[in-house]
Amino acid sequence: MAGEIVDSVEMLRRLVAFDTTSRNSNLELIKYVQGYLKGHGVESKLVPNEDGSKANLFATVGPNVKDGVVLSGHTDVVPVDGQPWDTDPWTLTLKSDGKYYGRGTCDMKAFYAIALAMLPDFQKAKLKKPIHFALSYDEEVGCIGAHSLAAAMAKEVPRPRAIIIGEPTMMTVVHAHKGAQMYVTKFTGFEAHSSMTHLGVSAIHFAGEFVHHLNTVQDKLDTQFPPTSEFTPPAPTFNVGTILGGTAGNILARECEVLWGYRELPDRPLAALGDEALKWLNDVLLPKMKAKHPSAQIETVVRSSTVGFSPAGNEEAKALAANWSGSNTVGSVVYGTEAGIFRSTLGVPTVVCGPGDIAQAHQPNEFLLASQVTACEGFMQRMLEWAKRD
Ligand SMILES: [Zn+2]
Repeated sequence: MAGEIVDSVEMLRRLVAFDTTSRNSNLELIKYVQGYLKGHGVESKLVPNEDGSKANLFATVGPNVKDGVVLSGHTDVVPVDGQPWDTDPWTLTLKSDGKYYGRGTCDMKAFYAIALAMLPDFQKAKLKKPIHFALSYDEEVGCIGAHSLAAAMAKEVPRPRAIIIGEPTMMTVVHAHKGAQMYVTKFTGFEAHSSMTHLGVSAIHFAGEFVHHLNTVQDKLDTQFPPTSEFTPPAPTFNVGTILGGTAGNILARECEVLWGYRELPDRPLAALGDEALKWLNDVLLPKMKAKHPSAQIETVVRSSTVGFSPAGNEEAKALAANWSGSNTVGSVVYGTEAGIFRSTLGVPTVVCGPGDIAQAHQPNEFLLASQVTACEGFMQRMLEWAKRD
């Protein structure tokens, strides 16, 4: 399959067919991309995770010199479990509404599928500036792979001029997003019959107090940030994603696990709100629990941490991406991406710009408008013209 020629849609079809739900290995997709690149004479490097079950990939097309561009994307997708899909999520399906359906079409295999499909054009063009591919694993479960990928690229790739993170923005240019921090807190109480509440500690009741506390912190935050802020909603925002606990209606729950977190503005310290919440758990809630029974416990671990992405210092990437996308809209989003990690590790101007609408991400019947494929191809074409020049 040396030098295989594949159009954007066919490449997207192939990438969608790999079930790269974050809990699975992404190696089949990575090996496919590696083989495809090799077929076109492009060597790639893998940056595996600890147990070797997943890997990041980076590769350079053109001369390995500075001033190129990095095209970055994540290989994993969110689960389809329990979602009512009308088509097979792993089979790219074009319907008469002009939409390509499939998991990962918009979040976010299309961006690099389109770039990979253009690889023969990149190769033919005798590039003066390099085009780097950067594909990560485990973005959807907390931007895990991007750290080692960005670190490896910082060592081995001559300083690029700009990094484009191809998350769905409808090909508009995004120069900022909030950070995100997620925790799992385990409340351990003491079991007793539900009629004997004086003898035990319900982990669920105290977990409920914690959720209420987060709501009061949120109410305060909501009054502090004006709606004129860069972001919608303007304030940092808490969310309790899951609560698991209890065994029966007539037992004080021994255990309750709360998955919680927040989105933080990029110019504020990411961990501060979390540290305050942990201090409240430790100083206020835990003594109340222990007063009921000394064996009560509260334990918290950080589940994931996504650095915010601040607009400062991204001017050059903004100008380039605006040029290539033809979009004059420069905005911000509230969802997290790997942009903050790449920006801080490589110290290179970064923007988010990719095909598709975030509104379709993670949804059943996720789709990508066919017109977005065309728009992204235009972006790559103009980027290629730039990379051909000195
Ligand atoms: Zn994504």
